Formats: sequence, C-alpha cells, structure tokens
Amino acid sequence: MQAILDRIAADMALVTDRGKVATYIPELARQSTAPFGIAVALPGGQVVQAGDSATGFSIQSISKVFTLAIALGRLGDQLWTRVGREPSGHAFNSILQLEHENGIPRNPLINAGAIAVTDAILAGHQPREVLGELLRFIRLAAEDDDIHINKSVAASEQATAHRNIALAEFMAAHGNLKNPAALTIGTYVHQCAVEMTCAQLARAGLFLVGTQGCPRLVSPARIRRINALMMMCGHYDGSGEFAYRVGLPGKSGVGGGILAIAPGRAAIAAWSPGLNARGNSALGTLAMEHLVRATGWSVFG
Ligand code: GLU
Repeated sequence: MQAILDRIAADMALVTDRGKVATYIPELARQSTAPFGIAVALPGGQVVQAGDSATGFSIQSISKVFTLAIALGRLGDQLWTRVGREPSGHAFNSILQLEHENGIPRNPLINAGAIAVTDAILAGHQPREVLGELLRFIRLAAEDDDIHINKSVAASEQATAHRNIALAEFMAAHGNLKNPAALTIGTYVHQCAVEMTCAQLARAGLFLVGTQGCPRLVSPARIRRINALMMMCGHYDGSGEFAYRVGLPGKSGVGGGILAIAPGRAAIAAWSPGLNARGNSALGTLAMEHLVRATGWSVFG
C-alpha cells in the first residue's frame, strides 16, 4: 500500500491541470493548487499515507456525512420527512429543485439537505452543544482529540453565506426549518470549517467501513444506507462520474477533500484544493481512480 500511495503522490505532482480553488469563501480562495495528500486507514486503525497527508484542510461538505450519522441516530427514519434520498443532478448550492419540490431538499448531502439536517439536530439544543457533539463524534471515530474548527474559515463563510441563508429561508417559507435561519446557518458554517489532515479524515471514515477493527458508532444497516447515499449523492451533479471512474461511496468538499469508503476494506482520504467544473477535487478524484485501479477496490468489481 505504501508503494501504491507513493506512486500516486509522484504521479499527482506531475499533473498540470490541477483545477481551480473555490473562491466564494474568501479563506478558501487563498489556497494554492500545489498540495496533494492521500491517506488510507485500514481496519485496526493503521494509516498508510503519502504527499501532504499531514496538512490540515477544511473538510467543508464532508462534514455532512458526520451530521447525517448523528441525525439518523437522533431522529431515525423521522429525518426522511425533512429531506429526500435521491440524487439531485444540480449544483451543490442550487435553489432550483427546492422550489419545485416544496422546500424538501433532494438529499442530505447537498447544501439545502445538509442545512435541514443541521436544523433537525439543533432542535432543543444550542449551536455550541451541536458542534460539541459533532467534534466528539469525529474525534471518537478518528481516535484523535486534536481535531478542531477553524474559526477564521467559519467567519469567512458566515460573512458570505448569502446563498445558504437564501436556501434556509426558502425552506422556512415551506415550514421545513425549525430554527431561525441565522442560527442554523451559523451552526452549518462552523461544521463545514472542521479542519483535518488526510490521515485524520481517513481514520474518521473507518466507522463506515463496517468490519472488525472499525469503530462501531452506527449500526450495520445504517452504514449501508449512508454509503448508498454517498455513492448516489456525495459528489453533487458529479456523483455519476465519480461512481463511473472510482466506484466507491464518497463525499467531497469545496476545501478540496474527498472521503471514500471501500466497504469492508478501508477508508480513504485525498486532498488537493483545485476543483473540477462540478466542484469536486480534480486531483483527489484522479488519485482515487488510480488507487482503485491498483487495489481492485471498486464495489463494482
Ligand atoms: N460550506 C460550503 C457551502 O455551504 C460547503 C460546500 C461544499 O463543500 O461542497 O457552500
């Protein structure tokens, strides 16, 4: 595995088309497209890594996987009255579908859906408590207490969160937001600003691998369902392309991270800030494709 990852890191260093960093969150706009890191966490907790795998980055939408797991634990199937389970075929922050579908977002991994999930776990709690629970969940999953929220990234997103506030207010108009939009979005931007390295993120994903030696934080049935949602919806309107090229459940974030799960085998994190046209890490996707080719880990054989 070390040889495979070293090879991937060396190959990625040569790629010239490295995508473009997200610019709508000023703190992310300052990133360079140069870094690339990858880490594979194996059942038992061993982590194999290469490249800039020890550099922290903003997990952004990858946080939606963790809040989904928490929300399902808290609300069970009730959650599905607030959000659907279908791929969207639209951009991560699209409002179009929300209008057609009366304020019920397509799935929990697009912005509107994740905002509804955060709103659901906020019920009866303070944002600080919800963010504390999220950090506890992630730290437990990663067996690492040194995982924090980057306050400058959160503040930077909060100051420019016009679209997400619009999505929240639109859901409020349809009765699908229980807290004031400012409170829910304030919590949401902080969850997105959790910072991790590839090594930490890969370990945090182990609870979704669902085999011996992985943290048992959710039931096997829930692991299957979260993986199904990641496969169908984890890369926005690029989810089909990711399934085609990589064939693993995955979730991307605009910070350039991707978490992918090889069920029963490993959790993989890749990071490179340059994004492709669909807002998913260009090199992260390419690296996952190389890894799956070398390991035969695609769930499609
Ligand atoms: N915090 C980002 C937003 O809501 C997350 C989007 C992403 O990572 O894809 O715009």
